Amino acid sequence: MSIDWKKVAADYRDDYLEDLKHLIAIQSVRDDANKTEDAPLGPGPAKALQAFLKMAERDGFETTNLDNLAGFVEYGEGAETIAILAHVDVMPAGEGWATDPFTLTIKDGNAYGRGTSDDKGPALAAYYGLKILKDQGVKLNKKVRFILGTDEESNWTGMNHYFETQPEPTMGFSPDAEFPLINGEKGNVSFTLGVKGENAGDDSLKGFDAGLRENMVPRDATAIVETADNEALVAAFTEFLDQMPVVGDVKTDGDGVHLHVIGKAAHGMEPKNGINAGTYLAKFLSQFNFGGDAGHFLALLGGALHDDSRVTKLGLAFTDDIMGDLTMNVGVMDFQAGQGGKIVLNFRYPKGIGSDDLQGALTKVAEENQFDLQKGREMVPHYVAPDDPIVTTLMATYRELTGEQAAEPEVVGGGTYGRLMKRGVAFGALFPHTEDTMHQVDEFQPVNDLLLAMAIYGRSIQALSNDLAD
Ligand SMILES: [Zn+2]
Repeated sequence: MSIDWKKVAADYRDDYLEDLKHLIAIQSVRDDANKTEDAPLGPGPAKALQAFLKMAERDGFETTNLDNLAGFVEYGEGAETIAILAHVDVMPAGEGWATDPFTLTIKDGNAYGRGTSDDKGPALAAYYGLKILKDQGVKLNKKVRFILGTDEESNWTGMNHYFETQPEPTMGFSPDAEFPLINGEKGNVSFTLGVKGENAGDDSLKGFDAGLRENMVPRDATAIVETADNEALVAAFTEFLDQMPVVGDVKTDGDGVHLHVIGKAAHGMEPKNGINAGTYLAKFLSQFNFGGDAGHFLALLGGALHDDSRVTKLGLAFTDDIMGDLTMNVGVMDFQAGQGGKIVLNFRYPKGIGSDDLQGALTKVAEENQFDLQKGREMVPHYVAPDDPIVTTLMATYRELTGEQAAEPEVVGGGTYGRLMKRGVAFGALFPHTEDTMHQVDEFQPVNDLLLAMAIYGRSIQALSNDLAD
């Protein structure tokens, strides 16, 4: 059946935005402090999953909820299964929004709100692609499963639960990244340097705090310090702010000097897109006379770990021709005097280098500073051949509907759900011409981008699961 996809997507605009508004309003940030048996990741993610599945039931689909951790919408019949993997959880909103992050706001043709770009907007666009096929009565000769996870931004608990309890799909895509298409993703591994809390210098670091998540460049950093000459410290801080690409503020009270640095948040897979408030604050403080664990903590952050996303200072710089550079994000920094703290580093690595290489270099750093080192979760690099039908079919649809004939699949710093299937790729919904605001304040997507994505997704599902694909 021939469908004028762009026209049909435009016809669904109002319904789509109404449903998106409903989803954005649910604060589906993982919240372990408030988890229950029914909501293992806190109330928000479970509520967003239920809301999405309820919409699909309203639209006449069969749905399944897997223990409030994952769920799926099913349509079509066939021996093979096409999977679409999206997620309903969102990153914490963070400070500094111009609009309420949990109220969908349309301004100058853009849809603002946490999740408009990552991933509620794209997830819903893909869902609407499937819904349009159903509404038009298109018969699919493969089974399509639209699968929702609830923990993409942390540990993938939801999607892992799906893959532990359900058969592996034949192939699929995840609308949780960018267009045109990602057929390769770097490996992803985190390391935590554990720090003890002793101060042994003339100056004293009472507390230091930066970063919400390992996969995010910290926008804000705060420290409380006590020095022999607090006035000189404040003057030096003001001068530092003048010279550096960060802003901040400072106040002094009975606890000491409270310093606050504001940089720029960004997704941790490309730290160059952000300005790390934490390492800048450490760089400033490391010129003073802090000693012991506090001194090591500041010297490392402000020195070897500062402004070095390609890890040259630790001697690890590495590039693969297809998959690109090894990158490092200093995502979480925490120090409490007398108690201790940690530095969490997130690495994205191409094929050709492994987490063992990283661990070797970091072990040395840990030994030199009397830190302890712990390896976190790891995902190895993922690559689907460019001539696999999942790649060629989606690329053909993308070129057809955008007119971008020269578009080619690409490799990124990853961590998308695409890697959960051998023949899995990431596909949209951020267009090359649109600013990437995922994980940032004032996250948005142009409404027209979301509608074009809807058309591309619908056409792609049709091509993958209909006779058109053969
Ligand atoms: Zn996402």
